[in-house]
Amino acid sequence: MRRFRVAGDALRTLELDEPAQWMKVFVPRAGDQPTVGRAYTVRNFDPSHGRMDLDFVLHGDTGPASRWAAHAWPGEQIIIAGPGRGYPVDPTMRNHLLIGDATSLPAIAAILEVLPKTAEAVVFVEVATPEEEQPLMSCASVERTWLHSGKEWPGTTGRLELAVQNVALPLDDCSVWVAGESLMVRSLRSWFLADQRLSRSRLHAKGYWKLGVADHRDRD
Ligand SMILES: Cc1cc2nc3c(=O)[nH]c(=O)nc-3n(C[C@H](O)[C@H](O)[C@H](O)COP(=O)(O)OP(=O)(O)OC[C@H]3O[C@@H](n4cnc5c(N)ncnc54)[C@H](O)[C@@H]3O)c2cc1C
Repeated sequence: MRRFRVAGDALRTLELDEPAQWMKVFVPRAGDQPTVGRAYTVRNFDPSHGRMDLDFVLHGDTGPASRWAAHAWPGEQIIIAGPGRGYPVDPTMRNHLLIGDATSLPAIAAILEVLPKTAEAVVFVEVATPEEEQPLMSCASVERTWLHSGKEWPGTTGRLELAVQNVALPLDDCSVWVAGESLMVRSLRSWFLADQRLSRSRLHAKGYWKLGVADHRDRD
């Protein structure tokens, strides 16, 4: 993962009020290829200085955003548009279950930062290696489980699904947030709704990308 600090005057007046809000990021491409946009989560936002941090998973040169992120230098210009909707944390809910792969780590970290100290969070994140784990700050009490995908892409190994399904989760009085690879999200979504009978209003599940598909949009 590589972090970019983006600066621009328009960021001084941008209004963000939820964690996990995201921007459409348009990166420059070689030659006369058209610019393409991809979604990236606002990890940190500092409107007084007109700055925000975006964390890019580096997954090789197959995607224009990942390719740009791997080779970019300080001072490069990008266009960002947005914001998109984030996660409206319910402050009355005691338990929060947050599940995702590396692409959802910026959102999970931002959600944890706004939880009140009365909240309890259970977090499952799959990253490639132990070096990709990040400190997660929160006033809430947080139980973290890091999973490692090794040579496979985080979110595609089935380990998140297995780990989540094999522990006793506090599903009463609980909001569940899941994001990452689309098939993983779909499988957990149906497990929570059909097997665990979680109310739809307590589940926020979004496919952030799909293995083998460029510019995937989640339509579930
Ligand atoms: C609301 C939202 C917020 C997001 N926030 C973030 C974020 O903060 N950080 C972040 O890194 N991503 C985030 N994503 C995911 C990111 O938008 C996708 O991974 C996007 O596809 C990357 O674009 P690309 O140009 O690199 O690859 P694309 O051109 O879209 O895809 C090219 C190939 O790369 C594969 N691919 C795409 N992403 C990955 C990946 N992560 N791992 C392995 N293979 C991949 C595709 O399957 C395809 O085969 C977010 C997505 C959404 C919808």
